[in-house]
Amino acid sequence: MNTQDFIKIEEQYGAHNYRPLDVVIERAKGIWVWDVDGKKYMDCLAAYSAVNQGHCHPRIINALKEQAEKVTLTSRAFRNAQLPLLCKELCEITGYEMVLPMNSGAEAVETALKAARKWGYKIKGVPEFKAEIIACTNNFAGRTISIISFSTEAQYKDGFGPFTEGFKIVEFGNAVALKNAITPNTVGFLVEPIQGEGGVIIPPDGYLRECYEICRENNVLLIADEIQSGLGRSGKLFAYEYEGIKPDVVTIGKALSGGCYPVSAVLSSREVLGVFKPGDHGSTFGGNPLGAAVAREALKVLIEENLIENSYNLGNYFLDKLKSIKSQHIKEIRGKGLFIGVELKPEAKGARRFCEALMERGILCKETHENVIRFAPPLVITKEDIDWAMPKINEVLQMD
Ligand SMILES: *Cc1c(COP(=O)(O)O)cnc(C)c1O
Repeated sequence: MNTQDFIKIEEQYGAHNYRPLDVVIERAKGIWVWDVDGKKYMDCLAAYSAVNQGHCHPRIINALKEQAEKVTLTSRAFRNAQLPLLCKELCEITGYEMVLPMNSGAEAVETALKAARKWGYKIKGVPEFKAEIIACTNNFAGRTISIISFSTEAQYKDGFGPFTEGFKIVEFGNAVALKNAITPNTVGFLVEPIQGEGGVIIPPDGYLRECYEICRENNVLLIADEIQSGLGRSGKLFAYEYEGIKPDVVTIGKALSGGCYPVSAVLSSREVLGVFKPGDHGSTFGGNPLGAAVAREALKVLIEENLIENSYNLGNYFLDKLKSIKSQHIKEIRGKGLFIGVELKPEAKGARRFCEALMERGILCKETHENVIRFAPPLVITKEDIDWAMPKINEVLQMD
């Protein structure tokens, strides 16, 4: 079967909730993927930053295989010999006190929202059903009904109401707006330190620090959604580190498993995660030994292979090279670490055709928000790899 055969079958039998580029990937290694026709591509999306450690990292695959032969799932009705170690290692690496493991990013965000509400009622003393959580314009935090309830993207909500109450929206990047929106019933402020799906939007310097101080003054939990920006993507373990703050709650997912298994988690203090009592919340697969073993190894790889430093250094290198490109289509180039967005002018007629042209030349990127090309390759990328890609990127940006 060739590319067209696979596409035809998927179009017939699979729901059309995505519009993928027409490349059918069969295998992958590091930053490279191969399609069913044997063509090789550089992956500059890294599965939305889930494969920061590179595709099929041998150490992570080995951990997966070894654990798969021992025990994969116990449910949390029983304990397993991997979860405690994942929780301990995550706390030691991040400086948080407690971990609540889940599977997808959306589940981690839902868990953080539940924790914030319960903390609001049990600790802060907010009257029942009055808890408010503030989120930002242009946010992305997943696709559950409660999460899309505070989306500002019309398409994400169209046809999916009625929505969950208790959310307020403030402008991303505007700390005064946050301050003005807070009431005595506000329990949490959910924010991405860098908006990924929103188009790699980096807020003004000092924004997150101001939000942190406003939250402290008002006894509101700062909840940083680092599911995409975290675990090395921005050139730091967490993007919030650029602002010298420590959020009250952090959600992680995606690269937590190096793309080898769905694993997510909420990190916080004993005060916040301590609000969950047995039976309050759970997930059949959350904290399973296979996912925990994979995540433990994925974290070790991130640190022991210096991938966070590599993201910082090569992110700067990539960004400088991109900024040296002269193109009539470019409106702005921005990034932190290997989390880079090239925003095109409206006259460029969308980023999609540029992504398709890049694909023809062996580079896989995905347009985000119509006009942005995101460059977010696995963090194992080298200078030589970037040098290989740059003339092709330049060529594509010279199209009419
Ligand atoms: C991807 C993402 C999520 C949702 O993760 P899923 O695993 O797709 O549910 C949440 N927040 C941010 C910032 C993300 O980028």
